Amino acid sequence: MASDTSDAAGPVIIGAGPAGLTAAYQFAKHGVTSTVVEATSEIGGISQTVQRDGWRFDIGGHRFFTKVSAVRDLWYEILGSEDFLVRPRLSRIYYGGKFYDYPLNVRNALSNLGPIEAARCAASYAWARLRPPADQSSFEGYMAAQFGWRLYRTFFKTYTEKVWGVPATEIQADWAAQRIKNLNLLKAVTNGLLPRRRRTAITSLIDSFEYPRHGPGMMWERCAELVQARGVGLLMDHPVTSVRHRDGRAVSVVARTGGRDVEIGCSSVVSSMPLPRLVESMDPEPPPEVLEAAAGLTFRDFLTVALAVPADAAFADNWVYIHSPDVRVGRVQNFRSWSPHMVPADDMTCLGLEYFVFEGDDLWTASDECLVSLASRELETLGLVPAGAVQGGWVVRMPKAYPMYSRGYQSRVDVLRGWLQANAPNVWPVGRNGMHRYNNQDHSMFTAMLAVENIVLGTAHDIWSVNVEAEYHEELDGTSAPAPSAKPR
Ligand SMILES: Cc1cc2nc3c(=O)[nH]c(=O)nc-3n(C[C@H](O)[C@H](O)[C@H](O)COP(=O)(O)OP(=O)(O)OC[C@H]3O[C@@H](n4cnc5c(N)ncnc54)[C@H](O)[C@@H]3O)c2cc1C
Repeated sequence: MASDTSDAAGPVIIGAGPAGLTAAYQFAKHGVTSTVVEATSEIGGISQTVQRDGWRFDIGGHRFFTKVSAVRDLWYEILGSEDFLVRPRLSRIYYGGKFYDYPLNVRNALSNLGPIEAARCAASYAWARLRPPADQSSFEGYMAAQFGWRLYRTFFKTYTEKVWGVPATEIQADWAAQRIKNLNLLKAVTNGLLPRRRRTAITSLIDSFEYPRHGPGMMWERCAELVQARGVGLLMDHPVTSVRHRDGRAVSVVARTGGRDVEIGCSSVVSSMPLPRLVESMDPEPPPEVLEAAAGLTFRDFLTVALAVPADAAFADNWVYIHSPDVRVGRVQNFRSWSPHMVPADDMTCLGLEYFVFEGDDLWTASDECLVSLASRELETLGLVPAGAVQGGWVVRMPKAYPMYSRGYQSRVDVLRGWLQANAPNVWPVGRNGMHRYNNQDHSMFTAMLAVENIVLGTAHDIWSVNVEAEYHEELDGTSAPAPSAKPR
């Protein structure tokens, strides 16, 4: 087998998404030149902005929101304030032909439900307080205990199951609990009916958010240019196939490109490739129990169908959650509402219909043409655009969009972490899939920033503690209940 060897011998970064590019940027600031190895031909990973025929759309709209000031500073260092827009936020849930505010607003929810259904929900909540579900370790048990079975079924169950593709009883409660700490129906109603308190700086972010004028991809393309200008090697279309280790350290990374293997010597590895795939690629390979733990970590995949429609035919929201079980679409983005610069014509918009799938299932393998017509039909069925409004469409498939928190995932992650720490402690898993952690861009970036400090400055940041205690204040506005399913993004 043909192979090339390069003696880069600096840090090697796997993946040119937010975590990988942040690592390269931070290394460069410390005067350390790294090499970034990316499997695909696209910059930005899940945070890329796709361009088709002059239309731009995200893999799901990517809101820039963070409580980590170092991350926010970095956003503005990379892009500059002239490239950021502050956008008004409007997002609603579409259920039973009605729009419900999101985050859920108690007054609006009660008025949409009507007095009889609202009374049934209250009774169901009282029942859940008297007889709480026996098993609250699952998402279903936990949420039914907090909100009662009836509200749980209305606002939480359908969307969550669409997103994850498994019954809500199989989803661990911990990530929902992390996001809606101590909030239950009684507190939500009490807060919702009290006079509106003075809004804080954090809650003001609920009503608006930051967004690069050409989408998140703009940030990562700029970041790639900046690091390349500082001497970083960016190897595109180089999927990493193995990480060689010897005497308790990773010594090189092997990537396959153009039918050849390229081996790159390394002093350390910052990896944002999926954690189980990283561990499986270690050479020599880990023992069977570690490989078994890796094989047990799974992902949910994603595809988006972007449809061009006249702007005045669409809704005003940035995005709408679709709870109706009779259609397969889970969420619809309106990219013109994210940024008018995303669309090539003043009177048009681009709607992104999001389908949560498994690689290889019927939707994943359907032709683009079929998916465009399914998405157009579903928009019309829902009544979100008039018949005949769709003027064209494109499909983008994104494997491994969501690391799944299925039963036992945490102990599997711990096995992989423990093995890496013992056998190759100069390998630093970072990011979202890289840590099998539900990290948004900001936390993905922050883990990379901390890993670089550990490598360059010898600090001892605990990277695995990032996002463990994070609360999403947007869900905890005094007038709002949490989002259904605590909103996977
Ligand atoms: C639908 C959706 C909506 C979202 N909305 C938001 C939002 O509003 N705000 C927000 O902040 N975040 C959002 N996120 C999360 C955000 O996309 C991620 O947090 C972020 O992209 C993770 O960055 P990363 O670099 O860790 O991983 P990724 O973006 O996954 O990048 C990893 C990179 O590694 C590459 N790679 C994988 N395997 C290999 C290999 N073997 N060899 C070489 N390269 C490899 C991949 O091709 C990819 O380019 C959303 C995610 C989804 C799915």
